[in-house]
Amino acid sequence: MTPPAVLQVAGGGLAGCEAAWRAASRGIPVILWEMKPDRFSPAHKSPDLAELVCSNSFRAASPENAVGLLKEEMRSLGSVIMRAADANSVPAGRALAVDRVLFSRAVTSLVEGHPLIEVRRKEFSRWPAVKGPLVLAPGPLASEAATGLIAAETGSGGLSFYDALAPIVTGESLDRSRIFARDRYQEEGEGDHLTAFFEKEDFLAFHAALTEADRAAARPFEDESYFEGCLPIEVMAARGPRTLAFGPMKPVGLVSPLTGRRPYAAVQLRRENLAGTLWNIVGFQTRLTRGAQEKVFRMIPGLERCEFARYGAIHRNTYLAAPEALDPFQRLLGRPEAFMAGQITGVEGYVESAAQGIWAGENAARAMLGIPLTMPPRASALGSLISHLRPEGRRGPFAPSNVNFGLFPPPPGRLPKKEAARLRLEAARASWAPFRENENHAAIW
Ligand SMILES: Cc1cc2nc3c(=O)[nH]c(=O)nc-3n(C[C@H](O)[C@H](O)[C@H](O)COP(=O)(O)OP(=O)(O)OC[C@H]3O[C@@H](n4cnc5c(N)ncnc54)[C@H](O)[C@@H]3O)c2cc1C
Repeated sequence: MTPPAVLQVAGGGLAGCEAAWRAASRGIPVILWEMKPDRFSPAHKSPDLAELVCSNSFRAASPENAVGLLKEEMRSLGSVIMRAADANSVPAGRALAVDRVLFSRAVTSLVEGHPLIEVRRKEFSRWPAVKGPLVLAPGPLASEAATGLIAAETGSGGLSFYDALAPIVTGESLDRSRIFARDRYQEEGEGDHLTAFFEKEDFLAFHAALTEADRAAARPFEDESYFEGCLPIEVMAARGPRTLAFGPMKPVGLVSPLTGRRPYAAVQLRRENLAGTLWNIVGFQTRLTRGAQEKVFRMIPGLERCEFARYGAIHRNTYLAAPEALDPFQRLLGRPEAFMAGQITGVEGYVESAAQGIWAGENAARAMLGIPLTMPPRASALGSLISHLRPEGRRGPFAPSNVNFGLFPPPPGRLPKKEAARLRLEAARASWAPFRENENHAAIW
């Protein structure tokens, strides 16, 4: 069968608009399917494309920061989202924030005005009759029809509908004189976990702070009845200090190297990656506000100055178990014509979703043109973000992530945090320049 001459993109959010724009910039005609205004998800309200459903911030503006660098790379790839964001920014200190109405209106007018893009205001609800490359970008609140199509390919375990996220902190920010490489029942040598030890008095102060801390409000469409096996840490704390000390903070099988005795309670951190640049606070999924997480979790010994690579959260989010469900180019295994884009791939945030969308559009266009698919350089911000979706180097279960320096390849040796960040930036920029000069190359990975 002759492949279709038009690329179909499902979902006119941040990722879908980028994918459509990128493919059209490569000369490919695109049909962009957007179900609004016929149907709205519980969080979408405006008929415009690329709607920002919550905050109006694209986070740090400075390219010295991981998300700032990602934005710089997006601009160099001709991002339509960055173009509209820069043109409609509002003063926000060191962040790039936008007038959300003008921003979405600008994206809508750019995308609708592109001579190669046709926007169809209709739900994408079935696979096209003629097989050919397509991009699926239905977002974290994808319609039932879209999730049904995807789940039929991945099986029920391949798609999650809720995030119960424990915070992730960077390895460099931990005080290793107060937190130790110890596992339960470990007899000798170093353990795989980092363990923090609480004496009774400190634990009770921590418990009191946790029960009094501010929580983020649930949105009307988010069910607050939690799974008993995955309760937010503050909900467990509200049942009394013993619930924690006999639950996620139990000290069994542990001896504190500081006292030579079993502690009153303990917190364990699990590696997020082989490099040990990111650590997950085990069992600390939470709905506390970000400010409260900083205040309370920095009471954990060794975490006094910890830097959050990801805050804990509990919210509705449709996402794939990317390392098992997607190939290296974010195509559905078993349906390789379907390029997945945006938050549903397991990246998290406006900027990240848009950035990954550019890449899905690039590869879908390549598939249409019959040229090899490609990946951004591993050391770049975009390459580091996409590497999070891969199984290589992963430890522990997959959970969505923002872009952060912990995902970048670590520089050799143990370096002070600032120096390590500087070297990562340097490596990212050094990899990006030759890549941009030769965009048609095969993967530099
Ligand atoms: C409640 C909530 C609050 C959030 N707050 C923030 C925040 O403050 N900051 C941040 O950075 N990120 C936030 N996020 C995450 C953010 O929404 C995403 O990172 C980003 O919008 C994802 O971009 P996307 O293009 O993948 O999906 P979306 O932007 O959601 O776009 C998906 C689009 O697809 C359309 N669609 C869905 N199904 C179909 C279908 N079958 N056919 C046709 N069209 C379809 C939808 O109408 C929508 O327009 C939040 C998410 C939620 C759910």
